[in-house]
Amino acid sequence: MSKKTFVKILSVVLALVLGMTALWACGGEKEDENVLVMATNASFPPYEYKEGDSFAGIDVEIATLIAEKLGMTLKIEDVEFGSIIGGVQSGKFDMGMAGMTVTDERLEMVNFSSTYATGVQVVIVAEGSTITSLDDLKDDGSMKYGVQQDTTGDIYASDTPEKGGYGSDNVIRYKTGAEAVQALKAGKVDAVIIDNEPAKSFVAANEGLRILDAEWAVEDYAICVAKDNTDLLDKINTALAELEAEGKVQAIIDKYIKA
Ligand code: GLN
Repeated sequence: MSKKTFVKILSVVLALVLGMTALWACGGEKEDENVLVMATNASFPPYEYKEGDSFAGIDVEIATLIAEKLGMTLKIEDVEFGSIIGGVQSGKFDMGMAGMTVTDERLEMVNFSSTYATGVQVVIVAEGSTITSLDDLKDDGSMKYGVQQDTTGDIYASDTPEKGGYGSDNVIRYKTGAEAVQALKAGKVDAVIIDNEPAKSFVAANEGLRILDAEWAVEDYAICVAKDNTDLLDKINTALAELEAEGKVQAIIDKYIKA
């Protein structure tokens, strides 16, 4: 083979290799673009929980349909509730969906989609507890309140009594609602303040507990997105509006929450 022919063959091979590498890189990039990363805390039934190795719940199903409408694949990252907003702000996650309440403080850090569900903060006590109504909840240091850390239950209960809370010192924070409920069973706290639907699941799964017949706070749930990602926020809102018009959001909620 002449030197010229060799150089020719070599350059053709090189061009092929380069071309394939470029194609492969492109493919990879495209795939990333088509993944919608949702951060959640999967210990919040019936909104999100683990079922074996996979995720289930209202938020999981709504998010799957949103991703479908966006032509994307949903990827779920299960993290501590308190890490969701920071991760969304930094771009680590595209969105946070975790039965997350819209609050003024959070709105300073992230944007929220339109609301897709209502949440109610309720109080779980042990059966036979002296606490039988919201008026029995004291802020004089005689009672301890269990909450999931960084949730609105934690934030409001930790407020000063003037602001309707019980004072930070009287609040014991747990990583999950389930741990707060175990602490209540063990007598380490006098009451647990948590969202209504998870409260029902926890009470159903644990004997000797009951939910006070009162609404401690009423809230709106929405999906959070980074402030600068208004493009995604618009797309999520459009998808949500369509899903609502199609009756699909309500159907998912009805599937998990029996009236
Ligand atoms: N709704 C509550 C909040 O946003 C709790 C959410 C949760 O524990 N996943 O703070």
